[in-house]
Amino acid sequence: MNSFLNFIDGEHRAGSTGEFLDVFMPSTGSAYARVALSTPADVDSAVRAAESAFPIWSGLSARSRGEWLRKLAAAIAAKQGALADAETRNTGKPIRLSATVDIPRSIHNFEFFADAATQFASESHLEPGVAIHFTLRQPLGVVGCISPWNLPLYLFTWKVAPALAAGNTVVAKPSEVTPHTAWLLSEILREIDFPKGVLNIVHGTGSVCGNAIVEHPRITAVSFTGSTVVGRTIAEKAGRDLKKVSLELGGKNALLVFEDCDWERMLDTVVRAAFSNQGQICLSASRILIQDSVYSRFKTDFLARVAQLKQGDPLDPQTDQGALVSKVHYEKVLQGIRRALEEKGELLCGGGAPALLPAYAHGWFVSPTVIEGLPMLSRTCQEEIFGPVATLHSFKSEAEALEMANQSAYGLAASIWTLDSTRIVRLSQQLKTGIVWANAWMQRDLRTPFGGMKQSGLGREGGWESMRFFTEPKNVCIAQ
Ligand code: NAD
Repeated sequence: MNSFLNFIDGEHRAGSTGEFLDVFMPSTGSAYARVALSTPADVDSAVRAAESAFPIWSGLSARSRGEWLRKLAAAIAAKQGALADAETRNTGKPIRLSATVDIPRSIHNFEFFADAATQFASESHLEPGVAIHFTLRQPLGVVGCISPWNLPLYLFTWKVAPALAAGNTVVAKPSEVTPHTAWLLSEILREIDFPKGVLNIVHGTGSVCGNAIVEHPRITAVSFTGSTVVGRTIAEKAGRDLKKVSLELGGKNALLVFEDCDWERMLDTVVRAAFSNQGQICLSASRILIQDSVYSRFKTDFLARVAQLKQGDPLDPQTDQGALVSKVHYEKVLQGIRRALEEKGELLCGGGAPALLPAYAHGWFVSPTVIEGLPMLSRTCQEEIFGPVATLHSFKSEAEALEMANQSAYGLAASIWTLDSTRIVRLSQQLKTGIVWANAWMQRDLRTPFGGMKQSGLGREGGWESMRFFTEPKNVCIAQ
């Protein structure tokens, strides 16, 4: 069985206790590898390696740091096939998604922030005849990056790339559920002789290894993507130590369908928005709000498209729907569906495990599930299920749609479907979400701020927002 080890100071090392955790293939439900279980002592070794590497890395020119990130991007690109295969084996997501979204985006993250390293600039303010002020933007030192299992390499690199571009050294922890591609990344770092200690990868559970990163006194900032529950505990600890944090958390996103939308384009996108990656995307549209005049037409057309989604072997390029990431999560999603039925929701399709070939009988598959008839304040519509489950709701007016969309403790993203641009302008100002898409969903430009309001997070990532997060602004005033 393959063992995924820590990568500290340019070397692969087992955790200090020598203990491992099984790594599973969700499509079969069987363990195929094991990952190091790190302790606070391992995190401390990683911090010491990062501290030693900091003076040289932060002292490099922006151009040299950018060149290292480009070299890393090129080395990932050279192994795209193997990385996509590993991502799919470990997450259960369709290979088409890993090969066209997850791995290309991981490459792009390093390329984008390689450019950002050379383009990032700070401000100066002149007081004529009195003084000039300028802002130094210096790296923070050793920073921590903690990422979730749904987009493993994509989100891991989304944090690590700007942290490195800004001149920090990093201790990063991928999810213990999906460590495979971070392990492959550590092999790539070694192959290209990436400067030792600059990027350290520690594996292990959130409660021990992740917590040790958050609580380490010499880690100056933590960028975290994951659940709201964990984000809240990290915010509390960071608050106690006055540590800088960026929190990208859960969502319960609304998608609003108005009668005047581009129907076919909307339908294609809504199916993706609800069920891509088996609904395990923080941006997934789990609450679909439809104008009453087109509700029954939408229901018929949408269900017909959902029925066409092909479920099965995630490694088959024809597969649209793979498995859920873990047994625990599979049971949580099934529990969410049972609760929706207890709350008197009407099941329109899905609702459980599909009948698949015997090879996948023990895999964690749940069919795309659509439910109607639930009030917006039901637990089903308020709590994040993070699986292939969408609820349908009808609204009469724009005002009612807005009220329903905002009836959530979360505030990550919303997607509006209408050809009325005045409506888009009105709604985008009033929706309480960090991201609004109009006639689009998950259209990402890495320069834009990314993040959520309310229980969906604190702070923004992306473009200059990331570069600002990973630097300390210092004002210098020179009197004339
Ligand atoms: P999670 O919060 O359980 O874990 C995320 C990461 O945090 C993992 O690496 C985990 O090991 C670590 N962790 C867990 N407990 C910790 C602790 N006490 N201290 C420090 N680290 C700890 O989340 P998950 O189940 O891996 O991911 C799914 C969640 O992530 C969903 O809620 C989803 O909406 C959210 N998510 C948000 C975004 C976003 O950009 N807003 C993107 C993807 C996923």
